[in-house]
Amino acid sequence: MQRIALTALLLGLALCGCADDGAPPAAGSSPAANTPAAAGEPAAGEPAAGEPGAGGPGAGRSAAAEPAGIDPRPIHAGALTLDSHVDIPLDYATAAVDPLDAEEQVNLLKMVEGGLDAAFFIVYVGQTQRTPENYAQASADAQTKFDAIRRMTTELYPERITLAYRADDVERIAAEGRLVAAIGIENGYALGPELGELDRYYELGARYVTLVHNGHNDLADSAQPRAQLGDVAAEHGGISELGARAIRRMNELGIMVDISHASKQTALEATQLSAAPVIASHSSVRAVANHARNLDDETLLALRDNGGVVQIVAFEDYVKTEPPERAAAMRALEASLGLEPPVDPAALPEEQRFAFLRGVRDINAQWPPANVQDLVDHIDYAVELIGIDHVGISSDFGGGGGIIGWTDARETPNVTYELVARGYPEEEIRKVWSGNLLRVWREAERIAAEL
Ligand SMILES: [Zn+2]
Repeated sequence: MQRIALTALLLGLALCGCADDGAPPAAGSSPAANTPAAAGEPAAGEPAAGEPGAGGPGAGRSAAAEPAGIDPRPIHAGALTLDSHVDIPLDYATAAVDPLDAEEQVNLLKMVEGGLDAAFFIVYVGQTQRTPENYAQASADAQTKFDAIRRMTTELYPERITLAYRADDVERIAAEGRLVAAIGIENGYALGPELGELDRYYELGARYVTLVHNGHNDLADSAQPRAQLGDVAAEHGGISELGARAIRRMNELGIMVDISHASKQTALEATQLSAAPVIASHSSVRAVANHARNLDDETLLALRDNGGVVQIVAFEDYVKTEPPERAAAMRALEASLGLEPPVDPAALPEEQRFAFLRGVRDINAQWPPANVQDLVDHIDYAVELIGIDHVGISSDFGGGGGIIGWTDARETPNVTYELVARGYPEEEIRKVWSGNLLRVWREAERIAAEL
């Protein structure tokens, strides 16, 4: 029990590199710390034999939502499942991080085991002070990640995974029995001070660009300004002239515009400025969990009117807001043991470690962490508000994502099973898993051909 709890906790902490979304690697707030024996579930990463993932079908399903005799397994197997946001480290596809079986939430073996057919691997660069040197570093880091994805698909595992350059490629590659990689760029900062890299990135396979990340950039305002970068609340009041030029060029090339991480004004302007439908590659619903990274109803409706899609994300903090009582209980637990956050349980003496993990378990019992049911609550809300044609799914694995029941790619079936349990027909599940995003991608291609 304790060993399993610790394994789960350590797994979760390891996941929380948090480069992407900047979630602190504190035990109390990572999906990890929430994992230990929260409800007597099998530990993440140790799926029961014969089950597609830890917890098996419906790990996060309520008793009230039992499906009416529908076997979800063929529905999952038959759907082309696409995760629109998977982060990779800078040393990806080197001896240190083997894409096949590295200790990451997504690797090629886990994709196969979980029936995850396709993923956008992310060329992410963090926002820094906008100096010429830092711009050059951002472009260099982006190049490093492009190179890594190319090595994975052309040198290391060409027989297992292929890079898709067009929406049609995704379906063709999957039909041929291989995994599908696609590329998204997270943070338009990587495009350079005058967008000089954009066309080249398209040639390298980039098919969406997240305009902005945490902290404003020269293209647009962020949902989360960063005081340490000198950010004011709104620098451009939405999208800058340079940002508008970037969107025009992306439309001409056939690169999807991504509004995740954008301020509300940025997002609304993007839906107006873009000639093609826009995406939110990894965001959830503000009305369900009030977080700056989530989209409010007005933004979701604008996304619908623009023909776009929101890829609901399995990121703990965005799926379920932490009640202040829970944070207080974590602080009290740490204080009672004389610990300073962030706590690394593995580094504690055994007695103290067990006391800490018992405390976390009790806290999780009182304030349960986000699970697959909570995730699908966001999907339900978005479908109700903007329709089944405008909703998709993402994990943000490798960037801080992961919730109970979907802690890594092996547990992907649990998401499908919850959708089945709630009565979504197979045709709708296929739309949510990839059909909608591929429609938007095709629209971007069609409009690029006309411009
Ligand atoms: Zn992100």
